[in-house]
Amino acid sequence: MRPNFYASCGLDRASGLRADAAWLKARLDDPATRLVPLWRNQNLFRARKLDAQEPPQPLLLTRAEAGAIANGAAELVLLGIDAEAAYFALDLSAREDGAALASAWGGAFEDLRRHGPLLPHREGGVLAYARGILHWHARHRFCGVCGAPCASIEAGHVRVCSNPECKTQHFPRTDPAVIMLVSCGEQCLLGRQRVWPPGMHSTLAGFVEPGESLEDAVAREVREEAGVSVAEVRYHSSQPWPFPSSIMLGFHAEARSLELAVNRDELEDARWFSRGELLASPEDESFRLPRRDSIARRLVESWLGRD
Ligand SMILES: [Zn+2]
Repeated sequence: MRPNFYASCGLDRASGLRADAAWLKARLDDPATRLVPLWRNQNLFRARKLDAQEPPQPLLLTRAEAGAIANGAAELVLLGIDAEAAYFALDLSAREDGAALASAWGGAFEDLRRHGPLLPHREGGVLAYARGILHWHARHRFCGVCGAPCASIEAGHVRVCSNPECKTQHFPRTDPAVIMLVSCGEQCLLGRQRVWPPGMHSTLAGFVEPGESLEDAVAREVREEAGVSVAEVRYHSSQPWPFPSSIMLGFHAEARSLELAVNRDELEDARWFSRGELLASPEDESFRLPRRDSIARRLVESWLGRD
């Protein structure tokens, strides 16, 4: 089965080399090495003319291009290696002049979500990985046990507490969320939240809570949001979703009946749609399916037999 967008970016994560200081230094000195810059959750893209139809292109830097900034960066995280180069995420968030820096490199910092579906699969995955792990660093600056500052070790894949009495190690985390297409015969359930773009309808989703299996979480979310009881839950696939820090675990679920009791605190609306309605989606402000880089769209397409 083909991987979802943002997954399987093709890098060898080289986890056995993360603690090898000599190897890391050689990679950082290697002119082939590429840095993936981020500034306050935004990735660097090549500048484009406003009227140009050209697709967005990520802008990666050599160490020489990054210059003294890379040497003094707060966080450099090894993402991995491929046949040509090693890749590091470079966090520039401590700088106030992100826009000026980007412009000096011929680029602009922009939200990955803006361009996601337009990027090649591999590049989208590398940018998402860099964004996700730097967001973890930004949100784990202090030890959750004793409150002392933490430092990055193992090429950015562990943070360790600086308090010698504590020394707790903290590992990168990702928050599991279930996302499910609920169907009942020839109908499927889609909902919408008020904050979504006009017309957009999507699958139900929610975070997994402690003490729950994924199947429990699917059943609970569908019951809480739509008042629907599910009989069968089948895993489909998963997708990293670093907006800011989730992994989406995708399921198909079969409802016991078409009865609905929509929770209006959580959803603006939810209702059953036929295959015909979805196949004829106008993709405009009256009705549109979820964005093409999302697992929600994949679950819908798979149900429609178009995937
Ligand atoms: Zn501590």
